[in-house]
Amino acid sequence: MPTCEECKSFFAFDEDPLKGDCVTREKDQKSSYWISRPTDAFTDTEGCPRFISRDDNSKKVEDLAEEEHPIVDYIHRG
Ligand code: SF4
Repeated sequence: MPTCEECKSFFAFDEDPLKGDCVTREKDQKSSYWISRPTDAFTDTEGCPRFISRDDNSKKVEDLAEEEHPIVDYIHRG
C-alpha cells in the first residue's frame, strides 16, 4: 500500500525524515494557496484523493487543488 513518503505532496523534515509535511494546493472563489499539515512517512494513504506518486510525471500537486482534502486531515482529527 502506498505511504505518504511515496507522494509528491510529502516533504520530509531534515532533522527527522520519518516525519514531514503534506503540502497541498487549494483553490476557492477568490484565490489559490498552499496548505501544510503534519504527517508521517509511513502513514497508509490508501484512498487519499490527493495522492500522486513521485514517479507519476503526468500530474502535479497543483492539478488536484479542487479534490477532497488529503487523508491526513481525517486521520489527525481522529
Ligand atoms: S496525506 Fe495524501 S496528499 Fe498528503 S502526503 Fe499523504 S498521500 Fe500525499
